[in-house]
Amino acid sequence: MDLHTTDDAVTRRIKAFTDRVSYVKANDLYFYNQPIEELLPGMRVRVRGREMGMYASYSYLGLVGHPRINEAAKRAVDQFGTGTNGVRSLAGTLTIHTELEETIANFKHTEAAITYSSGYATNLTVVSTLMGRGDYVFSDKLNHASIVDGCLMSGAEFRRFRHNDMAHLEGLLKNAPPDVAKLVIADSVFSMDGDIINLPAMVALCKKYNAWLMIDEAHSVGVLGKTGTGIEEHFDMYGSIDIKMGTLSKTIPSVGGYVAANKDIITYLRHASRAYIFSAALPPAQAAAANEAFKVILDEPWRIERLNENTKQFIGGLKGMGFDTMLTETAIVPVLCGEDDMAFAMTREAQHHDVFVLPVVSPAVPEGLARLRATVTAAHEPSEIERAMDVIGEAGKKLGIIK
Ligand SMILES: *Cc1c(COP(=O)(O)O)cnc(C)c1O
Repeated sequence: MDLHTTDDAVTRRIKAFTDRVSYVKANDLYFYNQPIEELLPGMRVRVRGREMGMYASYSYLGLVGHPRINEAAKRAVDQFGTGTNGVRSLAGTLTIHTELEETIANFKHTEAAITYSSGYATNLTVVSTLMGRGDYVFSDKLNHASIVDGCLMSGAEFRRFRHNDMAHLEGLLKNAPPDVAKLVIADSVFSMDGDIINLPAMVALCKKYNAWLMIDEAHSVGVLGKTGTGIEEHFDMYGSIDIKMGTLSKTIPSVGGYVAANKDIITYLRHASRAYIFSAALPPAQAAAANEAFKVILDEPWRIERLNENTKQFIGGLKGMGFDTMLTETAIVPVLCGEDDMAFAMTREAQHHDVFVLPVVSPAVPEGLARLRATVTAAHEPSEIERAMDVIGEAGKKLGIIK
């Protein structure tokens, strides 16, 4: 029985969306939420009985399923079971949580770290705990949704600067009252475009205008820097970011989010941020897996070299065929298609030829800039990358995106 038969705004909103989903499905253009049955070596997956090359993974160093990490998770289950006793502050802190936070602090070259149950929750709670009414927060226009939501939730004055445009950021900083608290916040590597924030210029502006600096390293840990520790290593600027946020669900094959910073900031967040105080701790297996993964990254530096080689091969190959890959310098490789329908059609061609890749369409990206958002990892074989590029190239020709 249909309970909601009234034609109110919510009903219309839901209907507009379900109509769009039905249309896409009816035209064999829907590839979201596909059930992956099995992870196979060489960054391949089985989907409905078919083996496909995986080009939508954030496991940049190919650490999902790493024996050392699996083993650590199993040991944690044997030691602590599968859940915690609730929130961290009361009875939910286990030794594996404090160990993980020490590991993160060391990896990120900071005094301390705090973990939360997701990266999304981390941005929401950290921005809204640090900033409040009367304060000013400055956010890159392409920042991740969790940052935007955190800024809105904080109630602070919300100023957005054009993507990676430091002159625009400076103009906005200049216009803010000199005596208010200010926070500048940006992704390190942008999740739709793969380009890198201009950290040196941003750090200089924060100093000049007395603003705090927070960077989201979801796509830079394991990706940037010779040893994979992230954006400060990449620019040889350790110690220049006040608040380094990251996720445990991408390069780190677990779940959760963290902030690495000085002791006082972490103590403050531990006692004032609501996602820490009012939400349960990470399960022991996930905390242990994350803890081990940071160590594996440092112990197996060849993975970063492989990732860099694969990234170079993939971007170079696609550009060589005539695709526009925008300004990417990292493992996130946008393949511009144009209108949304074009990106859906490219996806269908790729998927039908066993290349698992997904489209990003409006409103996630501006209209006319719909794209495949492909990723490479350290686990891909060069020959497999060649095959995927052949498939994408053929599709691009067929649809007239390249000549
Ligand atoms: C994925 C992502 C997040 C959210 O992390 P989860 O752990 O998946 O909640 C936050 N910021 C950026 C830039 C991301 O790409």
